[in-house]
Amino acid sequence: MITASPAARITPDAPAADWRQLWREAVTDAGELLDLLGLQQLVDQLPPADAGFQLRVPRGFVARMRHGDPRDPLLLQVLPQLAELGEVPGFVVDAVGDMAAREARGVLHKYAGRALLIASGSCAVNCRYCFRRHFPYGEEMAASNHWREALEHLRRAPSINELILSGGDPLSLATGKLEELTQELAGIPHVTRLRIHSRLPVVLPERIDDAFIHWLASLPLQKVVVLHANHANELDASVDAACARLREAGATLLNQSVLLKGVNDGADTLADLSERLFAAGVLPYYLHQLDRVQGTAHFEVDDSRALALMEALRARLPGYLVPRLVREVGGDASKRPL
Ligand SMILES: *Cc1c(COP(=O)(O)O)cnc(C)c1O
Ligand code: SF4
Repeated sequence: MITASPAARITPDAPAADWRQLWREAVTDAGELLDLLGLQQLVDQLPPADAGFQLRVPRGFVARMRHGDPRDPLLLQVLPQLAELGEVPGFVVDAVGDMAAREARGVLHKYAGRALLIASGSCAVNCRYCFRRHFPYGEEMAASNHWREALEHLRRAPSINELILSGGDPLSLATGKLEELTQELAGIPHVTRLRIHSRLPVVLPERIDDAFIHWLASLPLQKVVVLHANHANELDASVDAACARLREAGATLLNQSVLLKGVNDGADTLADLSERLFAAGVLPYYLHQLDRVQGTAHFEVDDSRALALMEALRARLPGYLVPRLVREVGGDASKRPL
């Protein structure tokens, strides 16, 4: 994981740095995960351990999986499958043209008014369907060198009013490292909004600790936190508590999901997710069609089925609980609605 050097840390993290401990204790061995869930019989179906993108899942997230169920929707998001090894035409390494939109180290400026920083390459969970399995994070971290290149780009681009911290997971960074960025942002008056894209409030809600909330609440910016949950079972009381703290700190909470075969490709499942999110104070924002990333084809839901699911959702939910179904297409001026 990425840690700030002690000298760069402005606010010390909470004494026991509890979330870091939990991060380090994540399950990284597929055999152990299957043991914990009583699914030893699946061991023979695992791909070789060195197949490239390591299993990683915090124990608190494992605890939300159903024991003994090989089809559990949380398990399917994290368990390596042999299907990942096959090459499928059309599924490529850089599926969304990110490298073409690069402006400075770790800065992607694709859409009007918004710059997205690849703040960190680390995640608490490795999601099998993710583009991150191939992204060259080694060279592309905005947080390196005290955010200098990213800040220079922002200063020179007065059209940018919203800064998006993404990754990897930007909340993998120490709070002091985030503070280093936002102190500099104060000197860039055209940036008025800070958006954070993070799966940590869902998969490791302990990350939303006192020091983090203190930092967030103190920012002289409008704040949006976009969570990432794909199934209602991902949300439990610990996630509710993290969301409540984020809202109290002044953040608007949204969620993005990925439409995933076998995980959430049912109208009931998606409706339950929207309802559960709203119960936590979170509005559904995007439902993404899968990026066609190599090794993820077995998760794809075809467009006609995706559109039928949206119609079913509209028929049963209030409009504000229906996410926008979108696909990311390289070169477009926005996410493309289906
Ligand atoms: C998705 C994305 C955004 C944010 O788009 P919104 O439609 O505002 O949520 C910004 N920049 C990049 C590079 C993106 O991929
Ligand atoms: S970037 Fe998001 S989707 Fe990808 S592995 Fe990290 S948490 Fe999962």
